[in-house]
Amino acid sequence: MEIKDILKKYNFRFNKALGQNFITDGNLLNAIAADAEVGKDDVVVEIGAGAGTLTRVLAEKARYVYAFEVDRALQPVLDEVLKAVDNVTAVFSDVLKMSDEEIKNIVSGPFKVVSNLPYYITTPLMTRFLESSLPVTEMTLLMQKEVAERLTAKPGTAEYGAITVGVEAFADAAVTRIVGRNNFFPVPKVDSALLRLVIDKNKYKIDDEKFFRKTVKCAFLWRRKTLANNLKNMFSFTSQDCEKILSECNFEPMIRGEKLSVNDFILLSSVVKKYLKNR
Ligand code: SAM
Repeated sequence: MEIKDILKKYNFRFNKALGQNFITDGNLLNAIAADAEVGKDDVVVEIGAGAGTLTRVLAEKARYVYAFEVDRALQPVLDEVLKAVDNVTAVFSDVLKMSDEEIKNIVSGPFKVVSNLPYYITTPLMTRFLESSLPVTEMTLLMQKEVAERLTAKPGTAEYGAITVGVEAFADAAVTRIVGRNNFFPVPKVDSALLRLVIDKNKYKIDDEKFFRKTVKCAFLWRRKTLANNLKNMFSFTSQDCEKILSECNFEPMIRGEKLSVNDFILLSSVVKKYLKNR
């Protein structure tokens, strides 16, 4: 039976607020699994199983799939679509409300995240996994094209922001394909891109991850202001302190946060920390 007929059979009503735009095209589903490099040894966590089309393809390629879905109305649909595979557990829960411990109790050992994301949770979901203690090795995420562009932007561009630095600091990110809006149903208002993030927490030497993130956040807090102004506001430094900090980092006095690379931010956060300690 076609997915559309199965949805009809269970009287399923799409919930726009949950970002429900499903994919049924077999070639595209296989391409997503291939880009995520899912293989027989992999445990996959899928966020937002929907009607289970991607779940089923992932299950055919992976060792095991844990498919999280917040909408219980999809349970009978998933039961039917997934009855041909025996290596999937569907978990009906809001993944953003689960603690690391709760997830670890369900998924043991390292895993890859694969998701046709509900757009409204792209950033919180990505950050939730990137900043967690969970043993996630990779994330392959279908997201709004413009967001993927922002996440892979270069310093000095309008798209470059705190989230770009957060991704670049802890992962290798690349867009593997653009997916036009007509590949989804219902058809959304935007095109998508598939972004693959291979997590590498040791890519840079960042001693204090929490303080590094705080410094990055500070630099982009008021985008139109100079870095010195943002440092003053966030850490209550004097103008003289800021001058010294920027000079110690070898930055121009009027520099803005968007010009800084990850290495610049590592240097800046260690100098700021030192000044805070000696104040
Ligand atoms: N994977 C399916 C596909 O590709 O056709 C569905 C993708 S659809 C874009 C996103 C799915 O995520 C929806 O089924 C939605 O109900 C679910 N969802 C939304 N927020 C969620 C959350 N916080 N936790 C788990 N699932 C969520």
